[in-house]
Amino acid sequence: MTDPESLADRVQEGDLRIHELEAEADFDTAAEARRLLVERETETDLETIGDYSFPAERAEPNIENMIGAAQVPLGVVGPVAVNGEETSPSSQNSPNSANEGGAASGEHYLPLATTEGALLASVNRGLSVIRSAGGADARVTKNGMTRAPVFRVEGVAEAAETVEWVEENLESLREAAESTTSHGELLGVEPYVVGDSVYLRFAYDTKDAMGMNMATIATEAACEVVEEETPASLVALSGNLCSDKKPAAVNAVEGRGRSVTADVVIPGDLVKDRLHTTAEAIVEANTRKNLIGSAKAGSLGFNAHAANVVGAAFLATGQDEAQVVEGANAITTMDARANEDGTTDLYASVSLASLEVGTVGGGTKLPTQAEALEILGLRGGGDPAGSNANALAEIIAVGALAGELSLLAALASNHLASAHEDLGR
Ligand code: NAP
Repeated sequence: MTDPESLADRVQEGDLRIHELEAEADFDTAAEARRLLVERETETDLETIGDYSFPAERAEPNIENMIGAAQVPLGVVGPVAVNGEETSPSSQNSPNSANEGGAASGEHYLPLATTEGALLASVNRGLSVIRSAGGADARVTKNGMTRAPVFRVEGVAEAAETVEWVEENLESLREAAESTTSHGELLGVEPYVVGDSVYLRFAYDTKDAMGMNMATIATEAACEVVEEETPASLVALSGNLCSDKKPAAVNAVEGRGRSVTADVVIPGDLVKDRLHTTAEAIVEANTRKNLIGSAKAGSLGFNAHAANVVGAAFLATGQDEAQVVEGANAITTMDARANEDGTTDLYASVSLASLEVGTVGGGTKLPTQAEALEILGLRGGGDPAGSNANALAEIIAVGALAGELSLLAALASNHLASAHEDLGR
């Protein structure tokens, strides 16, 4: 019997385990049976969770024990005016045009999924000011997804021997690592020694993939060579110096994924008319809050709320949401620039040290998330490979810059409380 009711009965009777349902029925029936089971055992009604619109089979690589989908409200902000390496206005797309296989350029609506009221309104205000100022510049200045296995050695003599071998045999490691992927390229290996532990931080250009699987598989192959050629024994393929999904200074300093910066100069009259404050007031708010306050807090993030835009863009476009941890490693700077005519412009920047994004692989293939990437014209691999993920990083950085500008301006003009009150949240 493969109807959902009977399947749920069989799990309740102990005849079948909850993760074995897909072996008995198609993916949607299995999800329905599991949902029924949970509804019975928890006395709940999961009608909305079960009301998803894509074939459950499409989510097979992304989830186990599926019962439905968590629907997070999705909106758009923009257009985002970006002058980037991969997003120059010279070849502008219409904001809605899909651009499969090629880098996006010009202006784009940025899809954001969130439950935080007022976020999109705030980012949209910042983007509108950025557009009026002629757009923001954005560049990916460093790119490398890392995996750092940990090896055991007898002591420092063997550790030094291992490090020396690694430094002299990068080509052998490259050959092994790159044999596992047609896109990934090994950029380098940074060794660290702590007592009888040796950590090798491998960095890869993973092109349009966020790259964590790709880097892990490639590093596993390279580790076999290290074990063959040195006294080191592999203890764990990830030794946490990578560092994935944990707050870590190494990512904030060395970068992980894409290091991307966006900046803009806002003319003084725009600051006054649209942000209802002055460059000096915004600079003071940034210095005392984002720089001094963050320093006193021992924070890795010297920004107001970059993670808001990073997190909402990650959910919308199928990124690994746990990597918002690294996405929060951002520094916001603000500077008042005096003009000869006596006016003062505002220079604003945000530098995200470790933004881990992809337009292929992981959650990007799910139907909703793929559609969101299509809004940006960035679904799938870019031409050349890597250009779509770079473009996505540039656009998210400008979105984060807009969020920083809007929030700091609101603080500087004491509008924050009233904005929330007006929106009833
Ligand atoms: P992936 O889906 O495992 O790999 C990307 C795939 O896309 C590769 O097989 C690559 O082929 C292919 N590809 C096609 N066109 C490409 C292009 N233009 N650029 C780059 N690759 C292209 O994704 P991933 O980004 O490596 O890993 C993301 C997944 O890893 C997420 O699901 C995430 O949740 C998960 N994750 C894994 C770990 C871990 O330790 N394993 C940790 C955190 C997260 P070739 O390799 O053959 O070139």
